[in-house]
Amino acid sequence: MIDNLPSCPKCSCEYTYAMNALVVCPECGHEWAPAESGAEGGGPAGERVVKDAVGNVLRDGDTVVVKALKAKGSPSGIKAGTKVRGIRLVDGVDGHDIDCRIDGFGAMQLKSSVVKRA
Ligand SMILES: [Zn+2]
Repeated sequence: MIDNLPSCPKCSCEYTYAMNALVVCPECGHEWAPAESGAEGGGPAGERVVKDAVGNVLRDGDTVVVKALKAKGSPSGIKAGTKVRGIRLVDGVDGHDIDCRIDGFGAMQLKSSVVKRA
């Protein structure tokens, strides 16, 4: 069983169906093995894509710059432009999808919408 069939790479038709190990496009008749199409962009099926505030795709280990943030337990919060190295993408609560350490603050979770890849 193949879930979440990819759209046709030739005509981007969404109504593809699986036949044996191949995916078939009813629009243009293109047949392909979905395992091979993973190489060109769009990672393996099911992989979550986390994007920063301007749409850059973020990956584990990236360095990002945060917007000004209020931080729990800190009266001054985090200054805009603070660099955060070695982020880790997580499936956190309440839309927090970045796990990181910030100098002077320690470990915390951020939303990808408040960072920009450095
Ligand atoms: Zn097609």
